[in-house]
Amino acid sequence: MAPPRVLVLGGGTGGLVAAKTVARLLEEAEGEAEVTLITDSPWHEFKPLFADVAFGSARPEETRAPIKSLERLGVRVLLERVERIDPVNRTVRTDKGSHSYDYLVVSLGIRYGWDAYPGLAEAGYHNYTLEAARELGRALARFRGGRIVILVPELPHRCGMYPHEAATIIAEAMRKRGVKAEVAVVAPGRGPMARLSEEYAKVWLAKYEELGVEYIRHKGLQEVDPEKRVIRAGNVEERYDLLVKVPPSRLPEPLAASEGFQCSQDKRWACVEARRFRHPRYEEVFMVGEHSMPPAGLPTAGIPIHFAADYAAQQIVSEITGAQVVAGFPSTLTCVGYYGVSSGFAGTCETSFDDKEGRWRLGCYVSAVNPLVKVMKEAFYKSWIAALK
Ligand SMILES: Cc1cc2nc3c(=O)[nH]c(=O)nc-3n(C[C@H](O)[C@H](O)[C@H](O)COP(=O)(O)OP(=O)(O)OC[C@H]3O[C@@H](n4cnc5c(N)ncnc54)[C@H](O)[C@@H]3O)c2cc1C
Repeated sequence: MAPPRVLVLGGGTGGLVAAKTVARLLEEAEGEAEVTLITDSPWHEFKPLFADVAFGSARPEETRAPIKSLERLGVRVLLERVERIDPVNRTVRTDKGSHSYDYLVVSLGIRYGWDAYPGLAEAGYHNYTLEAARELGRALARFRGGRIVILVPELPHRCGMYPHEAATIIAEAMRKRGVKAEVAVVAPGRGPMARLSEEYAKVWLAKYEELGVEYIRHKGLQEVDPEKRVIRAGNVEERYDLLVKVPPSRLPEPLAASEGFQCSQDKRWACVEARRFRHPRYEEVFMVGEHSMPPAGLPTAGIPIHFAADYAAQQIVSEITGAQVVAGFPSTLTCVGYYGVSSGFAGTCETSFDDKEGRWRLGCYVSAVNPLVKVMKEAFYKSWIAALK
């Protein structure tokens, strides 16, 4: 009998962890399967490090490693563009052909919806791709004074902490350079990361106050006018000299084009049976990417994706080999971030599954604010990529 086929879509955080873990657990359990990863990029990129490139603390080559390095672990890597999933016939169509599977792991990230608001695509800078991070770095280096606005169009967005890390780093770095800069974050929501915890918001606002950063709440972005350098929302109109923007999250194209992958409640996301990270209708399809975190009740960040991918891999190998390898989704998730130029922020969220709602519940609190957290974050990020080289 032919060995089962495990197909992983995406070579980012979720895809890498799922493929690696399936390969490792199969070896440990002496099981057999054909593990294939399909991605449209020759690189595994560690995207949080793009911020470090923009702010001058990482070199571009430190942010990525060839995804083909997974072949060392026995994973077949195909550089193809996924176009559509056919879960009824258990096939995936790409620009180069068609692939059948027995198990499918989907981790295709999000599409950056710059077209969601007039003017947003044309205005300002961001660091959500490596090339854009380099441009933002150059724009910040050229900046000679004025108003810098960090714009969050909507919630939730990729990495809830990022705008607050960016605002405090930029404000402190400008101060150190002797550049007169007013820094403001224009965002929906009661305060920085308030969706996760009021305590988070309080601790971030304390740093904002120390550095003179303003938090301006908008009640629905309408447009950005790149010529006049103005942001318009229902309740505010904000002028800027330099704009740093966060992308609205939209469903990746292959999921939007596939039957049964778009959440009917909110079309930005792909639905998931959240306890086990499986497709609600197709047991053999695992949904572990950022596109499925909000419907699962989890943050749009690498940490829960990492554990969701790990958990999916455990279930797959357990089913293939009969080995009891399922340890479950962790009871705490810890995120670490920069808190200005020289300090760090660590938050912990306790997880519990709400059976009635069918999603995860989080209870989050601040676990540490000190320079050691920054050092830990830098070491973890850089070693993630170094380990693949
Ligand atoms: C500036 C920045 C800072 C961040 N900071 C943090 C942080 O501090 N902590 C944290 O936990 N998270 C952070 N994140 C978020 C984290 O990087 C993402 O949540 C995580 O990478 C998402 O994992 P994913 O596997 O779903 O998607 P991705 O990592 O985006 O991977 C998607 C993969 O799918 C591939 N792909 C897409 N479309 C196709 C297609 N049609 N065909 C084939 N392949 C395709 C892509 O090439 C890519 O390999 C940050 C992100 C950014 C940009």
